Amino acid sequence: DSVFANVVRAPEDPILGVTVAYNKDPSPIKLNLGVGAYRTEEGKPLVLNVVRKAEQLLVNDRSRVKEYLPITGLADFNKLSAKLIFGAESPAIQENRVATVQCLSGTGSLRVGAEFLGRHYHQRTIYIPQPTWGNHIKVFALGGLSVKYYRYYDPATRGLHFQGLLEDLSAAPSGAIVLLHACAHNPTGVDPTLEQWEQIRKLMRSKALLPFFDSAYQGFASGSLDGDAQPVRMFVADGGECFAAQSYAKNMGLYGERVGALSIVCKTSDVASRVESQLKLVIRPMYSNPPIHGASIVATILKDRELYNEWTIELKAMADRIISMRQQLFDALRTRAGTPGDWSHIIKQIGMFTFTGLNTEQVAFMTKEYHIYMTSDGRISMAGLSSRTVPHLADAIHAAVT
Ligand code: PLP
Repeated sequence: DSVFANVVRAPEDPILGVTVAYNKDPSPIKLNLGVGAYRTEEGKPLVLNVVRKAEQLLVNDRSRVKEYLPITGLADFNKLSAKLIFGAESPAIQENRVATVQCLSGTGSLRVGAEFLGRHYHQRTIYIPQPTWGNHIKVFALGGLSVKYYRYYDPATRGLHFQGLLEDLSAAPSGAIVLLHACAHNPTGVDPTLEQWEQIRKLMRSKALLPFFDSAYQGFASGSLDGDAQPVRMFVADGGECFAAQSYAKNMGLYGERVGALSIVCKTSDVASRVESQLKLVIRPMYSNPPIHGASIVATILKDRELYNEWTIELKAMADRIISMRQQLFDALRTRAGTPGDWSHIIKQIGMFTFTGLNTEQVAFMTKEYHIYMTSDGRISMAGLSSRTVPHLADAIHAAVT
């Protein structure tokens, strides 16, 4: 008998499991709205032109070798990543008080940040929004933090539960860590307004709550890299400390390259350099050092003005296609005779996902009868839709709610 005979089967990941189920479905009309990856109007994955160009430049450069990167990753990449999120003019960067390390995409950046906090921060409680990206809970718990929730989404309005958010953060113990989605909140697509961000900032600073930004969609929400980074920059502008985990999965389409960065903004450059030294001790026994290819692509694009401009154009096109899918789905539901309900949240929500408000039973019905796949909380990836598939989805939603 196997020494592992007692191992029980683990459940599929609630998000990645949707694709597993989708792949098993032989139906020609099946539609995968589960996975958070961009698709073209033809339903195909997209490699950005600018990424192909950067890769060509890298391949042609015979001086490039496959040596290990330092524990903290590619130095150029780290500098450029910090500039991208905090802004080129950021005083924190100019004063050299940001510690940035290249990590394995957004998830790895969050995990390294969590492990660092678990070791070096006095208040090991992190408040995460209710609901949030499912992986947050496990990443932070395994990183050694105690996970609590703050109210975020109000099902009644399908908008922000701002009062609940303020109450819960007010009641949090002084010094607690607060996870904030920098933009395009996943799964709800609901973001605070800039005025609300300002209130959140004031409250958090008055209580010495430590902001930990998860920035997985910079540029993907509005189409503007600077616009989407504004909340983060507000927290850096006040001179306080904060964490930011960046991912290039969505905004550069580098999903499988696993390229991201963790930045810790500190009060002084001396603290930042000590923090960086400890980040190395977190990373070294975990995976030694990060991979070189994806970070080289990003650095090549970010440091060349022409490639950078080309990137912003391609990024905006992706964001615009998603925004147009929102409008098309909303129009399809509104103009259809007799689909009950107010679907304006579809066009109000921001980013890759729409939190439809469909319940678990309705989702199961749509999967069974219409071969449409999504997470059981009713979240659909707008990037998985096209003009061709919108009517099919509208039919399914109509049938599910009537
Ligand atoms: N954070 C949020 C909110 C996300 O939605 C995602 C991806 O879906 C991630 C982090 C991390 O993604 P990755 O590790 O692929 O960069």
